[in-house]
Amino acid sequence: MWGLMKINKNKWKQGMRFACILFINIVVCIMEIAMIQTGQKISNIDNFRNFQIESSLWSSLEKEYGRKTPEFYDKLTICMLQSNFNPENHKKAMPGFMYKIGLLGRYYKKYRNMYRTILDDIECFPVAEDRKGGEKTAFDDSWGGTRTFGGKRKHEGTDIMTSNNKRGYFPIVSVSDGVVEKKGWLPQGGYRLGIRSPKGAYFYYAHLDSYAEGIEEGTKVRKGDYIGLMGDTGYSEIEGTVGNFDVHLHMGVYLDYKGKEMSVNPYYILKYYENKKLKFCFKNE
Ligand SMILES: [Zn+2]
Repeated sequence: MWGLMKINKNKWKQGMRFACILFINIVVCIMEIAMIQTGQKISNIDNFRNFQIESSLWSSLEKEYGRKTPEFYDKLTICMLQSNFNPENHKKAMPGFMYKIGLLGRYYKKYRNMYRTILDDIECFPVAEDRKGGEKTAFDDSWGGTRTFGGKRKHEGTDIMTSNNKRGYFPIVSVSDGVVEKKGWLPQGGYRLGIRSPKGAYFYYAHLDSYAEGIEEGTKVRKGDYIGLMGDTGYSEIEGTVGNFDVHLHMGVYLDYKGKEMSVNPYYILKYYENKKLKFCFKNE
């Protein structure tokens, strides 16, 4: 009798163990499938390049975790991954911690580093405010819009327009510290400047009317430094051509990705900094 009970108890124990292992395996399987599916979604770099960081999300993360702290980049990355880079998508795919493990952990690290590279050095809006004349600037999200000069292509930046359409009026300032890497004429960009920030992002300013004095390739600039005046140069092989479009600043934001230059949408970055024009940005006014 005692022996029979012992056998039954052992069988019951074995059964429980088997059930537990089966349950764990099923859970692991479901997690893996979910992670693979999520990995496929978030691996689409074009979604990242939209750079759709709404100002409200940005502000609330800064308020809660501090400005440009490791926690800020951590939460930002998780929020963006959870919504597949579209914060309007409120359906959260998975709990945040799951983006830091296994297959998804690699994406998390990659994207967090890219957010930091781009955002860490930006400190101000690229156009100084017209305090005396009251003229204004405005911009839309034209990322991916069709452009035809130099062949059909997609617009890879944001155009900041002016209320007076007057070349040589609005001062352009550097959004970050950095070194002037490129200066000179480009058929598409007209007179342009390319400034490399310390973390490695490349800020491209195009269609300038003129350059600030002392701005040369290799010149070190500080955030808020005056670098040139807004104009309408470009869309021609002939250097100095003006008037092919309204006066505006084309702003491009790039970073190195897999050994190549990759643009991201500057619109949401500019939206965030539009109403936070820091005082030091206007020292040349
Ligand atoms: Zn443009």
